[in-house]
Amino acid sequence: MIDSFKKILVLAPHTDDGELGCGGTIAKFVEEKKSVFYVAFSSAEKSVPEGFPKDILKKELRKAVKLLGLSPDNLILFNYEVRDFPRYRQDILDDMIKLDKKIKPDLILLPSTCDIHQDHQVILQEGLRAFKKISIFGYELPWNNLTFSTKAFVELKEVHISKKIKALSCYKSQLSRIYMSGDFIKSLARTRGVQIGVQYAETFEVIRLIF
Ligand SMILES: [Zn+2]
Repeated sequence: MIDSFKKILVLAPHTDDGELGCGGTIAKFVEEKKSVFYVAFSSAEKSVPEGFPKDILKKELRKAVKLLGLSPDNLILFNYEVRDFPRYRQDILDDMIKLDKKIKPDLILLPSTCDIHQDHQVILQEGLRAFKKISIFGYELPWNNLTFSTKAFVELKEVHISKKIKALSCYKSQLSRIYMSGDFIKSLARTRGVQIGVQYAETFEVIRLIF
């Protein structure tokens, strides 16, 4: 069924959310020659730790998505202020509507309905409005998820998980965050794999499915 999707648009509220939530799936889709676009809505300049340049996350994002196999042309970066997305709901919706017209995706990957981060909630809610006629899956970010509905799985190989870990290791400014550790990424992928009897997987909440 997942083969029927050809053009995938990943909506990441902040740089790194897409890699964390579905980096393995992105690597797999790229390998399968699907067209994958990655949009980050903020490079979170206000949250960059001291000692790093303010634009560090933009550079880290470019390196990370390259390692997942994405073309630089398929990366789009907006500059909304971190934690302030609720103030810019309409602008964000307008940007998404333009993306829909330009890219014409058939699958959207975005934060799940269980995500409690205010910026993530805005991307989810405006995403539901902007991409009304398109299938939408929510990706898993356990540290932001109140609970999670593991209704869809993408089986992954070791190579996909390695690429995800390598991509996340590009975020030198974020390495103090516990969810960035390779150990954690691998064990979550193992857990989701064990749920369906395979080595590794990423799971998704099925928010809307259109055939
Ligand atoms: Zn985020």
